Amino acid sequence: MVEKILANLEKSNCVTDNTFLQAVSEVLTSLEPIVKTDSRYEQFAILERLVTPDRVIQFKVQWLDDNNHVHINNGYRIQFNNSLGPYKGGLRFHPSVTTGVLKFLAFEQIFKNALTGLPIGGAKGGSDFDPKGKSDFEIMRFCRAFMRELYPYIGARVDVPAGDIGVGSREIGYLFGEYKRITHQYDGVLSGKPYAFGGSLMRPQATGYGVVYFAREMLSQELQETLEGKVCTVSGAGNVAIHTIEKLQQLGAIVVTCSDSDGTIYDPRGIDLTVVRELKENGRRLSLAGYADQIPGSVYTQKSDYPNGAHAVWNTSCFAAFPCATQNELTLIDAQNLIKNGCVAVVEGANMPTEPEAIALLQRESVLFSPGKASNAGGVAVSEFEMSQNASMEKWDFDKVDRKLDELMRQIYKRVSLTAKEYDRERNFVDGANIAAFKRVAEAMILEGV
Ligand code: NDP
Repeated sequence: MVEKILANLEKSNCVTDNTFLQAVSEVLTSLEPIVKTDSRYEQFAILERLVTPDRVIQFKVQWLDDNNHVHINNGYRIQFNNSLGPYKGGLRFHPSVTTGVLKFLAFEQIFKNALTGLPIGGAKGGSDFDPKGKSDFEIMRFCRAFMRELYPYIGARVDVPAGDIGVGSREIGYLFGEYKRITHQYDGVLSGKPYAFGGSLMRPQATGYGVVYFAREMLSQELQETLEGKVCTVSGAGNVAIHTIEKLQQLGAIVVTCSDSDGTIYDPRGIDLTVVRELKENGRRLSLAGYADQIPGSVYTQKSDYPNGAHAVWNTSCFAAFPCATQNELTLIDAQNLIKNGCVAVVEGANMPTEPEAIALLQRESVLFSPGKASNAGGVAVSEFEMSQNASMEKWDFDKVDRKLDELMRQIYKRVSLTAKEYDRERNFVDGANIAAFKRVAEAMILEGV
């Protein structure tokens, strides 16, 4: 018992996670050419202020399982920067959640939200709670306990959380219900709500569809190519991966892989999404091994069977690759394998899924590389559309949201590629995204004063 408590404390207190430094270092490297171009950046200490969160909120979440046993988890909300609008960013429920992981995600969110051109600041939150294997009532009790601690810090004009890994519309529904019971307010305090009460049509699809709209535009402008008939690889089997696969298939691409935390499916005839959904949607989170049992000709590779830090999902011949699972899931060896197998574009659906050395290699070898903060911004954009609809009590139809999403992803691509060109970094969409976003946030920070 004592050992278990100490191990948990060690996990949540020691800084073994370098993802925040990784994210900051990537951004600051991109910004080198422009920080000297405007003396106000130094005068207003913009960089120092930008890498320091406004507030890190941590709380205890106490809840009862179905056998009335008490459980304790850590809950967090990192409100990083609200220069452009109310704090906005998802909640992640996963055992790997620590302050470090959430700081990286909240920091990235500032830039992603700025790239949308919409009035939203950057935040992220979540818990080290593991939803896997929990009953619906346990999820509900956990969400209610989490909101009891979080509610004083959020509000429709203050901070508007949404979903992320382990948090979909079911969890958002329970969180919203508890917020309403406590505050008696029926407002747009959370996005990603079920459509039945204030959710936006297309929010579940938005991140994945947006990733593919971005890819379509980038391939058309840079290579005069389309996705039709092309073999694509996708990692993950959650919200972002499923909707990326769905849109790729609608555009005529052949998606041959998906993956989860335990392994990868390769299906040369194209992933059957109905089977993936049966295994993964509505909180089921069953192993993808079940896919190979149902679909003859498909192959399941257990993660632990794959050697040397490489991942089976990236060792397949493909035209374009879409990492849509989690951070640092595409390593240097994976990038070498992708290049060897003829991949021409890597389009990130997840947040920071590609390791820095892998990005550098892909860029050196002229593989088009789009960072998640640009290509996965469709999710937060449609969340902002949901906030607009809630504020005006309107409901937009599916086609309207879809058209606006497509247009917004094209604009993000344009903003990122033009900025890259302007600063002599043609086709470097990492630098283009970081510089374009930084200029917008920095200007607001300067105008708002210290
Ligand atoms: P989900 O919880 O719906 O799905 C995550 C998927 O990734 C699951 O299939 C999970 O497997 C798998 N996964 C988790 N860890 C690993 C791993 N180490 N290796 C391989 N697969 C893994 O989350 P989302 O789809 O919402 O999020 C995916 C990514 O997209 C995250 O980086 C998130 O931050 C980012 N994102 C999400 C947005 C959204 O709107 N939801 C918006 C923008 C970015 P298993 O089933 O075994 O748990």
